[in-house]
Amino acid sequence: MWPSSLADRRDSLRPSVPCEAPVLHAANGPRAAVHERSFEPARMRRTILEMAYAGSTVHIGCAFSIVELLTVLYRHHLRYPGNDPRAAGRDYLVLSKGHGVMAQYACMREKGWLDDACIGAYFRDGTELKGLSDSRVAGLEVTSGSLGHGLPVAVGIAMGLKRRGADQKVYAITGDGELNEGTIWEGAMVASHHRMDNLMVLVDRNGFQAMGTTEDVLALGDLEAKFASFGFETLSVDGHDEVAIDAAVRRLWTSITGKPKAIIARTIKGKGVPFMEADNRWHYTRLDERSYAAALQSLEHAEAQP
Ligand SMILES: [Mg+2]
Repeated sequence: MWPSSLADRRDSLRPSVPCEAPVLHAANGPRAAVHERSFEPARMRRTILEMAYAGSTVHIGCAFSIVELLTVLYRHHLRYPGNDPRAAGRDYLVLSKGHGVMAQYACMREKGWLDDACIGAYFRDGTELKGLSDSRVAGLEVTSGSLGHGLPVAVGIAMGLKRRGADQKVYAITGDGELNEGTIWEGAMVASHHRMDNLMVLVDRNGFQAMGTTEDVLALGDLEAKFASFGFETLSVDGHDEVAIDAAVRRLWTSITGKPKAIIARTIKGKGVPFMEADNRWHYTRLDERSYAAALQSLEHAEAQP
């Protein structure tokens, strides 16, 4: 429970304009939809595209690259008792690369935590669905987007859970460009030192960051070896192969080394729309009508495939 002064401050930070489409919080959100939807990547990308077009803003390439990672975590691993995004016994997913939050909104729609009106109001005046992750929205654990902060917070959550003897798990998704931030490696050292084997980092290794390729801006080298040198148990995987991602997650959780875990997921920025793939202009670019129509056609074609 927050001290009253902090609770007052938290409430004062809430938008003064009522949401056009209020976010559906756990207490009153629908539950049935979760059984009818199945986190199909093509449909999730279409949700992202619709949001980007409706909101006239895009971090679209970096949202598309993590769709399969999120699909596997939400479909097979993250536990939300009662399908409640704020259940006390839940696992935690921290989107450290908060600019990819549209992909998480797409998952929250699949879970039945956001309805179509919320999705359609993305990035508009008064909505709670912003372009970066905001923890005031049920289902988003950490306010992030200022890079390098999410992982250290995830480490703190994991430490708290471990000290309480809870069996809950903590997942943190980072960008690869985000690994330029020193706080990432401070967090990694703390996780390793305290043997936080309840923490898993998934790196979206798409090879780009806002200003260019990761290797041109500040070379990262062999990330699997780098995380291993920081005391993590690591695996590399094709970040768009759901079966391979799922196998890697399961394998690391069954390990009894006591080490925190890291998966280096090789991904393609803009994955799913051919003209966006590996084209860093789509890191942050407004969709015009023609681009929107072409992207929609690609995704609808993919969605129609068996
Ligand atoms: Mg990147």
